[in-house]
Amino acid sequence: MHLARFNRISLGHFPTPLEKLENLSRTLDGPEIYIKRDDCTGLATGGNKTRKLEFLVADAVAQGADTLVTQGATQSNHVRQTAAAARRVGMKCHALLERRVTNMGDDYEAAGNVLLDDMLRCEYEYRDEGLDMNAEAEALGERLRDRGLKPYVIPGGGSNAIGALGYASCAAELLQQADSQNLKIDRIVHATGSAGTQAGLVAGLHAMNAPVRVEGISVRASREKQIDNVYKLACRTSELLGVKGDLSRDLIEAYDEYVGPGYGQPTDAMVDAISLLAADEGIFLDPVYSGKGMAGMIGLIRAGELKKGENVVFIHTGGASALFAYPHLFSRQKAA
Ligand SMILES: *Cc1c(COP(=O)(O)O)cnc(C)c1O
Repeated sequence: MHLARFNRISLGHFPTPLEKLENLSRTLDGPEIYIKRDDCTGLATGGNKTRKLEFLVADAVAQGADTLVTQGATQSNHVRQTAAAARRVGMKCHALLERRVTNMGDDYEAAGNVLLDDMLRCEYEYRDEGLDMNAEAEALGERLRDRGLKPYVIPGGGSNAIGALGYASCAAELLQQADSQNLKIDRIVHATGSAGTQAGLVAGLHAMNAPVRVEGISVRASREKQIDNVYKLACRTSELLGVKGDLSRDLIEAYDEYVGPGYGQPTDAMVDAISLLAADEGIFLDPVYSGKGMAGMIGLIRAGELKKGENVVFIHTGGASALFAYPHLFSRQKAA
């Protein structure tokens, strides 16, 4: 694995910190818990999409693009980070927002990430749920091309093999930190959605022959479907990296017990997990991804799947901006 062979621009603050969660480890009385602070990547409040965009936007620049086109749900962290990346390289950003969540408060389409999209001068249009959103984004790209622009279409979540390189790079960064702290990592846990994060991590760890298992906590798809999506993308990423030898499907694990009623729909376990991390560590998770990811990690500890004596790294993938679209879940005033 030699990532400098690929086009890359600097958009974030790296390496992100790897820290021990002393209080949470004590509270849960299970494994030693560490956190990889990818919520601190620094691009317009940060998050995991920044790593992917360093490779994707570099590819767009290399192709002479002047406009980034992408898609996501209404409160997409990916759209917000893509819009910020576009500002940094002097491009426009056009996005499609899918109305996947329609039962939240009045502010859902104005607060949180949508507010930040406005400030970043992102041009966005809404779509009803259920369309092939990547096909919609390609069609938008065609329309912009007809208008004389040079669009570069980024798939939802930045999850193709180029974007996943960002998480192969994270795997290398994490191992280097662990080695310098003399920390043997047994497991990595994180929220998995469009699959690029997990696929990149697995491909990177495989390339480095590092026997660390990655537990993906699904925020939307069933276990089978998520494993399938991650596996296919991990294979394509491994191929792009030029890694020899097939990647085994056994390397991919995903859990769908923490999705609850659906994507972006609150669960009690998510609310408890977010409240616990804020209270114990002063760290904000988000209601759509990292809150469910943490609920999953807590569930695996309670089930004895993650045990005392193990070292577990939770990757905080960001997303706290979306808390402001869900004030009723956490506001003591609104609860009173
Ligand atoms: C996009 C996102 C994820 C999921 O990452 P994928 O690469 O799409 O699987 C997790 N957490 C947050 C906060 C995200 O925005």
